[in-house]
Amino acid sequence: MNRETIIRELHKYFQISELVCNHTHSKWGERAWQFLDTAFLECLLIIRRDILQVSMTCNSSAASQRGLRCNRCELVKGKNSIYLSSHILGKAGDFTVSGMTAEQARQRIMANANMLPCNIRLEGGVNWLHFDVLPQFGVTDKVYIFHE
Ligand SMILES: [Zn+2]
Ligand SMILES: [Zn+2]
Repeated sequence: MNRETIIRELHKYFQISELVCNHTHSKWGERAWQFLDTAFLECLLIIRRDILQVSMTCNSSAASQRGLRCNRCELVKGKNSIYLSSHILGKAGDFTVSGMTAEQARQRIMANANMLPCNIRLEGGVNWLHFDVLPQFGVTDKVYIFHE
């Protein structure tokens, strides 16, 4: 799938303001799609549309740093050591999945890993669904569970 097709399809499920921080959205608006990695967007589409098939909430009025984070985000500004999270690379999102727990969502994704176009990572043991497409050095698993 090419990038334009992926973004057009994703528009049925997400606005860009849900996937980037409020700082990024207020400066770049719709152009902020450009900061999100193509592989991340394609995996998000497959997970939302084909694997989970229920609504997924990233940013909302209650939270604005669950997708792309910038240097103005509190979560980033507050760090006093190097911070190279997949969230600042445009390769990650934290989601609440409608009608299922984060663990149930992770299990369903793992059971359907063959549908994913590339390897992904899931954060284990947290009550939100974090997934990213960081190609972690030395890891070849289709779905790799990491712990912070
Ligand atoms: Zn920000
Ligand atoms: Zn996360």
